[in-house]
Amino acid sequence: VIPVAERTHLLDLEYLGRPGHVASAVLETRDGLVVLDPGPATTVERLSRELEAWGATLQDVRYLLVTHIHLDHAGAVGVLAARLPRLTVYVHAVGARHLADPTRLLASAERIYGHRMHELWGTVAPTRPDALRPLEGAETLRLGDRRIEVAFTPGHAQHHVAFLDAGTGLAFTGDVVGEHLPGSPIPIPVTPPPDIDVDAMLASGDRILAWRPTQLFTTHFGPVEDPPVYIRAHAARLTHWSERVRESLARNASDETRARAFAAAARQDLEAALPAERHADLSEETLYGNWFGLARYWRVQSMKA
Ligand SMILES: [Zn+2]
Repeated sequence: VIPVAERTHLLDLEYLGRPGHVASAVLETRDGLVVLDPGPATTVERLSRELEAWGATLQDVRYLLVTHIHLDHAGAVGVLAARLPRLTVYVHAVGARHLADPTRLLASAERIYGHRMHELWGTVAPTRPDALRPLEGAETLRLGDRRIEVAFTPGHAQHHVAFLDAGTGLAFTGDVVGEHLPGSPIPIPVTPPPDIDVDAMLASGDRILAWRPTQLFTTHFGPVEDPPVYIRAHAARLTHWSERVRESLARNASDETRARAFAAAARQDLEAALPAERHADLSEETLYGNWFGLARYWRVQSMKA
């Protein structure tokens, strides 16, 4: 548990035993702890142990804030709500429905992860409905003595929201302005299928900047010091990658070939921006998957036209 702002901490969930991949944020309030994006079900014990090492317990967690319900952000919500009878979960209304009944969420994850589902995500339990507080995206939450603003920020997921802690000026951006390697604030757009909407993602970045945040906190991974520079760089790379995918769709090749070529080109972009010792941390699988999300976006656009 590492401090990132006043009474605000990063907890590295060390997903699949790997540090620096999935971060939860822990906020202290007069009324117990807030955990933002509690992570996958497979890291609940790690979350509990890390809170204990820090001098708290899982029982101190009163509130969960969920940016979106992808399993690396919110797979643990059902299990935590079952263990913590006083827990309150804030999540967009569309996400709340899928947490209460994760059947469709799991079916869509299964199409991507197949036989690796259990190893990656563990047992995803339904969330008891009385714990859920559905959001629309313009709320102000009072959690203990802290004030949290909510904004609807679709683009990465249709039900994505971002949160601003009014006291510290820290904005929690989930995946909508991308990810970055720990300590290397080079934004990497995250565009897996099926919800990607490039225009909505760009607008969501502007919406977050309109808060004039002092700092950002992304789930992958951690604090970003200069929000305007980071979000503008994210928008530029997203636009560039999106154009590249659109051009690839005009070429005569299989989707797999197009996606491989895209992943290689995206890797080159990022390697040019990152120090050499970080190159091995770039995930080929994520870059390859990004092509499919952007390709789906363009195919939906062309059907609309
Ligand atoms: Zn996500």
